Amino acid sequence: MFYSKLFGKTVKTDPKDEISVNAKLLIRAGFIRKELAGVYNFLPLGLRVLTKIANIVRDEMNKAGGQEILLSALQTKNNWQKTGRWNSFDALFKVKSRYEVEYALGPTHEEVLVPLVKQLISSYKDLPLSLYQIQTKFRDEPRAKSGILRGREFLMKDLYSFHQDEEDFEKYYEVMRKTYLEVFKRCSLEAIETKAGGGTFSQFSHEYQVISEAGEDEIVYCPGGDFSENVEITEVKEGKQCELGHGSLKKVKVIEVGNIFPLKTKFSEVFDLTYKDKNGKDQLVVMGCYGIGISRLMGTIVEVHHDDKGIIWPESVAPFMVHIVGLDMDDKSVADRAEKVYKLLLAEGIETLIDDRQNLSAGEKFADCDLIGIPYRVVISKKTGEKLEVKKRSEKETSFVSLDELIKMLK
Ligand code: ATP
Ligand code: MG
Repeated sequence: MFYSKLFGKTVKTDPKDEISVNAKLLIRAGFIRKELAGVYNFLPLGLRVLTKIANIVRDEMNKAGGQEILLSALQTKNNWQKTGRWNSFDALFKVKSRYEVEYALGPTHEEVLVPLVKQLISSYKDLPLSLYQIQTKFRDEPRAKSGILRGREFLMKDLYSFHQDEEDFEKYYEVMRKTYLEVFKRCSLEAIETKAGGGTFSQFSHEYQVISEAGEDEIVYCPGGDFSENVEITEVKEGKQCELGHGSLKKVKVIEVGNIFPLKTKFSEVFDLTYKDKNGKDQLVVMGCYGIGISRLMGTIVEVHHDDKGIIWPESVAPFMVHIVGLDMDDKSVADRAEKVYKLLLAEGIETLIDDRQNLSAGEKFADCDLIGIPYRVVISKKTGEKLEVKKRSEKETSFVSLDELIKMLK
């Protein structure tokens, strides 16, 4: 991608109406633009990151046997009334059509999926079943000051599992616990698996919490890794000694990037989702539900991986791997060489952005490069000659390498 043609440019000063670090940096670096409070447009750089995160999640869900689907965002009021959530789901957006029909704008999808599954399964042979989607959700959130951490419109992965009995559900729940930790690891986030109350559904559930001052939740946890509970439920106080001798428990602010919980037969009962067991007897399907905030993950990565100059994208989710900074681009031989290196990197399958702008100081180009946060900066100028000056965004040292050496480094 040629930076001169990229839709979305860097901005030098912080947007006035943003408080959160993620929104300030993502807007300044040209990844997103605000539409209204809690609603953002994703520009090419932003969409590249969002898609990479979604693909990591997709890959792990597929590995865990999930089948991807795409459910409707516009949902019937009738099903929401059946579950009682038309009135009890506070953040539900209700839409009235010109024909006076009311709809729910999906904040979650049990009301759509459970009746759909009822149409398509009938026997124990159809179970277990694991279905997921990556889709825009709508919630009328009261607080929308955290940038893409809390949107009124946001991207979520929601997976629902269907089982013959509790025992089979519990087995799958254990699979998903491992799957979740793998997702967050691949996004370079340390997510602490935290016990939380299951709300109306059950006694327990797990949240995946990332330590950050930007978080709206708090946990009491053991840095040794054997204990973590959400402050809202827990009786355990900060300072208590860890039973395994890891020292005292700490209280920290966290961002909830995902959660998993049992739904038992709550929705199966409402929609009469049953299957015939081996004896031909009707049984209620046991369900589980597993969410990950994809756009919130992107915001969390920015909250965790940045410095005073800008974002520092982990390689697995970076919009590009290499950012070529062309200096002296008014000199034809330098410009030609920069473009040649750019094309050779592309031919090697290495995603590359090239700052081909003319008449811009080196300082301005480096500042933009640091702000955008692509993992490798490659400078090509009169001074670099046949070599390339390489620097990792996360490190200070630069080195001079040949193109072959650079490609080896990146592969
Ligand atoms: P929270 O407590 O943060 O409101 P939640 O308990 O409502 O989250 P779920 O309804 O289970 O969360 O949604 C699954 C995941 O979707 C959450 O773990 C979170 O990562 C993400 N998420 C929830 N609400 C939002 C939002 N308004 N904006 C962005 N991501 C969200
Ligand atoms: Mg919520």
